[in-house]
Amino acid sequence: MRQITDLSQLAQWQAEFACSTQPLAFVPTMGNLHAGHLALLAEAQALNPRPRTLVSIFVNPLQFNDAADLARYPRTLDDDLAQLRHAGTDAVFVPPVDALLPARDGGVRIDPGALAQGWEGAARAGHFTGMATIVAKLFHLIRPQFALFGEKDIQQLIIVQSMVRDLNFPVNILAVPTQRAPDGLALSSRNRFLSDTERALAPQIYAQLTASAEAIIRGEAADLVLQRARAQLTSAGFIVDYFALCDAAQLQPMPHFSGDAILLVAAQLGAVRLIDNLRISP
Ligand code: AMP
Repeated sequence: MRQITDLSQLAQWQAEFACSTQPLAFVPTMGNLHAGHLALLAEAQALNPRPRTLVSIFVNPLQFNDAADLARYPRTLDDDLAQLRHAGTDAVFVPPVDALLPARDGGVRIDPGALAQGWEGAARAGHFTGMATIVAKLFHLIRPQFALFGEKDIQQLIIVQSMVRDLNFPVNILAVPTQRAPDGLALSSRNRFLSDTERALAPQIYAQLTASAEAIIRGEAADLVLQRARAQLTSAGFIVDYFALCDAAQLQPMPHFSGDAILLVAAQLGAVRLIDNLRISP
């Protein structure tokens, strides 16, 4: 596995494959890798023809609006590298912060528009602008034919898809289903901050998603189902930010279930904000 730590090494690695017709698949991450990230990599490796794979590890300061959250984000590089090596990754790109950050405050940023206004965008000011700006830079530097993103972060995935479409990036975005623990909890780097008691409660998020989806498909009124899910999570000890039914294309609230929809949830458990979602079709 080639370990690339700066832009000139990246350019050199690219130059070695300049004459190759083998495609390149890219998996952007913030490290602290778990089976969710590895599923993205496995999906890339399963493409036919098998592409070269490059995983980036970059804790992007632009997408954090809380300095304490950025400072405590788990950084486990040695373990990450061991997992990537074991999984047969061709290259890992671990740039220093100043190699990717735009040079000036107030410089050019990608504005993802209306898609970034609700849900996580409302809870975390500037989060999606910061994400999209760095993903755009990574796409330019890495020039992959494929890039893989998890459905776990569904709003991020939809914003990246729309950025690629609206700005004509020459990359195919592939979506990978959310990987879960056996009890249903979506895998996340933030789960490590849950206490034992919180970890035991956390699967209730997925339980409420699946119960709500079943009730809505059965024909119960969506607003009542959502209200009940919020109330049950709140009485279990969560602080619910949102538990909503949206259309799957624009993530706009859907008052009555019709067509392709997604249940979206964000809830705080102790100091940890958990997000999850579940797609429902009629
Ligand atoms: P992160 O390191 O949290 O920025 O995540 C990097 C990529 O992994 C993103 O595309 C995430 O959506 C994806 N990802 C994170 N957790 C999961 C999961 N449990 N299942 C599937 N994809 C995931």
